[in-house]
Amino acid sequence: MPSKEIMNSDEMSRTLNRIVYQILENMKDTGEVCLVGIRRGGAHLADRLNEIFKSEGKPDIRVGYLDITLYRDDLTSIADYPVLQGTEINFDVIGKHIILVDDVIFTGRTTRAAIDALIDLGRPQKISLAVFIDRGHRELPVQPDFVGKYVPTSRDEIIEVALKEQAGSDYVRIINK
Ligand code: 5GP
Ligand code: MG
Repeated sequence: MPSKEIMNSDEMSRTLNRIVYQILENMKDTGEVCLVGIRRGGAHLADRLNEIFKSEGKPDIRVGYLDITLYRDDLTSIADYPVLQGTEINFDVIGKHIILVDDVIFTGRTTRAAIDALIDLGRPQKISLAVFIDRGHRELPVQPDFVGKYVPTSRDEIIEVALKEQAGSDYVRIINK
């Protein structure tokens, strides 16, 4: 499987910082911002964004997690119906500005399932979407508000987002399957 690195650790850090600055700019006009990461990659990224918020003088941002399974055998096949496996959101979403965080957006179906899950918990004031990589191929009208990097892909390619927390190091690669 040929692969090409498209981001290294430094570029990933800078990109996460940029996402935080964009959110800080945007959150002046909204209710209390809370981060909700979509497991597993999005959950680690939500934690990292939270660390950056802390270093920017915002120590009290609440973070939750959603577990949405795509019934994928491996990274090459994705079923059509993402299923909610579990939530870990230990705060009231009502009136909050919830920022969903995911590592990669593809068809948009995971985001839709996440929005459904959030709305089942109450009525957030606003839901936004932050993704690290937008690889295109949307099948629903779902667009991220905050994007780390737009990487046009073919359907034969997948993006590997390696994170220290899981993989031991940080990098992003395009893999041709
Ligand atoms: P979607 O539901 O938008 O089709 O797919 C998004 C979900 O599947 C995300 O949670 C994301 O982690 C995963 N995903 C889809 N395509 C890729 C990909 O190319 N690479 C990685 N790492 N995850 C992907
Ligand atoms: Mg994921």
